[in-house]
Amino acid sequence: MKTSSQRPSVTFFSFTSCEGCQLVVLNAAETFPTLLKHLKIVNFREAMDPTSDQYDIAFVEGSISTRTELRKIKDIRANADLVIALGACAAIGGINCLQDAEKPISIKKARELVYGKDAGKHRLLKGTIKARPVNQVIEIDHYLHGCPISAEELLTTLTDLMIGRRPTVVNHPVCTDCKMAGNICVFEKERPAHAPPMLCNGPVTRGGCRAICITYGETCWGCRGYVDNPNIAEHIKTLLDHGLTVKEAKATLTLYKGYEELKNKTGRPENA
Ligand code: SF4
Ligand code: SF4
Ligand code: SF4
Repeated sequence: MKTSSQRPSVTFFSFTSCEGCQLVVLNAAETFPTLLKHLKIVNFREAMDPTSDQYDIAFVEGSISTRTELRKIKDIRANADLVIALGACAAIGGINCLQDAEKPISIKKARELVYGKDAGKHRLLKGTIKARPVNQVIEIDHYLHGCPISAEELLTTLTDLMIGRRPTVVNHPVCTDCKMAGNICVFEKERPAHAPPMLCNGPVTRGGCRAICITYGETCWGCRGYVDNPNIAEHIKTLLDHGLTVKEAKATLTLYKGYEELKNKTGRPENA
């Protein structure tokens, strides 16, 4: 890893996404303004007009879902010393790859499922391809996981880069964060008769988010992707034991991890 100056120039690019991860960056910049003094931001569409097309570090948000995006991401890779995937859409495909869940379907079929009889009224962008995480097109140097990313991890990563240290990616399950947060596991809670099934994807999901959803009474849908070597079979058994059907259990797993599931089943898919 290297940067070409003491004050690295940084750019943010957005592909197919909701740009929510860039909003986390903006908020973090407001909260920690001193951080910006150590960086030279040259392009950040959410906040400024571009000032240069030369950069050391490129943060890329969003999945690759058009031929234009395919070309652009390759240019970014050629220009940057470091490319960092920003958020679930870029890092694992996320929601954009929901169409890959369980059984891959065509773009046409996906449109029909979403828009029903009005599918024909919504035109696709020219050159649309199936959405893919960025690492299926170019090499990625580092990942910031989550939907959206964690501001804390962003700051740690930027600090690491500025002092020339390789950032690390958390590789423990959300359960570890959850225990550290002092939560009672949803699977250990008493479930009244007729209550909805218990659900949590923490055991197979990469941590680093402080189990924020569970701490605030929400469900972990697994937005940070699979932890390395997840025991998926055992986790599905747990979900079934707590009231989910096989179909529901698989559906909860593939909300964010459709592409990872597809890759597990078929190896490296098209558009790579
Ligand atoms: S990861 Fe989530 S918050 Fe970030 S761009 Fe994608 S959908 Fe938006
Ligand atoms: S299964 Fe979910 S609720 Fe239970 S410890 Fe793991 S992350 Fe927390
Ligand atoms: S608790 Fe689960 S869904 Fe929530 S941020 Fe963490 S990984 Fe994502």
